[in-house]
Amino acid sequence: MNYANFIDPVHGNISVDSKLIFDLISTREMQRLRHIKQLSTASFTYLGAEHTRLAHSVGVFHLASQIATKLQQENECWTSYDTELAQVAGLLHDVGHGAFSHTFEQLFETNHEAITCAIITNPETEVNQVLETYRHGFAKDVADIIAHRSQRKAVVDLISSQLDADRMDYLLRDAYFTGASYVKFDKTKIINSMKLVDNRIVFDKSALSDVESFIIGRHQMYQNVYFNKTNRAAVVLLQNMLKRAKDLYPEQRDYFRMTAPRLVPFFENNYDLQDYLLLDDGVMNAIFSLWSTSGDDILQDLAQRYVTRILPKSVVFDEPESDLEALREILIQNGYNIEYYTEVSKAYDLPYDVYHNDVDNPRTEIKIISDDMTVSELSCVSPLVKALTSITYGDKRFYFPSEMKTDYSVKDYSRFAELTRHGVFHHDKV
Ligand code: CA
Repeated sequence: MNYANFIDPVHGNISVDSKLIFDLISTREMQRLRHIKQLSTASFTYLGAEHTRLAHSVGVFHLASQIATKLQQENECWTSYDTELAQVAGLLHDVGHGAFSHTFEQLFETNHEAITCAIITNPETEVNQVLETYRHGFAKDVADIIAHRSQRKAVVDLISSQLDADRMDYLLRDAYFTGASYVKFDKTKIINSMKLVDNRIVFDKSALSDVESFIIGRHQMYQNVYFNKTNRAAVVLLQNMLKRAKDLYPEQRDYFRMTAPRLVPFFENNYDLQDYLLLDDGVMNAIFSLWSTSGDDILQDLAQRYVTRILPKSVVFDEPESDLEALREILIQNGYNIEYYTEVSKAYDLPYDVYHNDVDNPRTEIKIISDDMTVSELSCVSPLVKALTSITYGDKRFYFPSEMKTDYSVKDYSRFAELTRHGVFHHDKV
């Protein structure tokens, strides 16, 4: 029976023929994701990047479903329960994401992965009630997949590894909505190449070019989109505005109870799951709009800049950070409180890595299986991927108000311009 039919620009028709999946999508906790943008502030730069976490979650369910169905058909050890777990874990893997997730997490010390598991296992949530009504103990099994605790390693691989349903969906989806035409890989070919060896997912060598395109596309998305300097400028402004509000809260409780009642439990560091679930991008944007007429000069100015898109500018710099002192000095002379008007933003990524048992979160390797059934780690059979392996890419930027570069009347304008022209480097590199 067909419960719902979604039309998706990335995957085409996604039909839901399981009541369980339909009931989960219809919960309050999942529908909240319809009001949370997948790329938070990226639409300041990429005008099309308005896609939601709900669309991504349904997309991951769809890919997880295709992969699991294929593995079940070809392997006796893959049960119909494994397929259900993969579908449900795919759908729910991001349910704990909040509004402007990463910024919010840093400031209020929340953790979306822990909250995802809490939503799944807490008897107060609709998600938990749907899961437990379907089958007693199901919620724990799903949470164990998402938290990597499950012994069903292949199902974990499917949802969370260096090449999984989550990454395939977000790369294709983010590329589509940001117009990143360089991201191109054949997801059907990759899915069809998946096999089970020793209860782990491996990829047939016939899909090697598409696996390479996936890794390269991912690398390019990080360099161009996720680490985009203007995108990071919007994050910096958002972060500084929220930091100002948090610092003001103790002296202006009444003002914040009036303009931001749903943030109060977080300002007081005394919140529960239900408080968290009441926040989304819409709620936050309404708050920012109210703050743009705040009586506090700094909060009002930062919110005004956020609402009207006056983003900070930045300069690349090198260690040591003390080289930034001259810039900070000029900013202070111009009357800026550098705690709220500047920020250091570091963005680094490791495009592909082989297994290191000495790191906290070792990456699972992508394994390629050849015609003669030998299994090799991807970088051993792909010179292209080898070139990207174990190398970290990215930069460090110092952000400051944009008028420092455009308003000739600022004090020490030409010195500031000179210092920021080629980046601030300790060594003689330009
Ligand atoms: Ca995800």
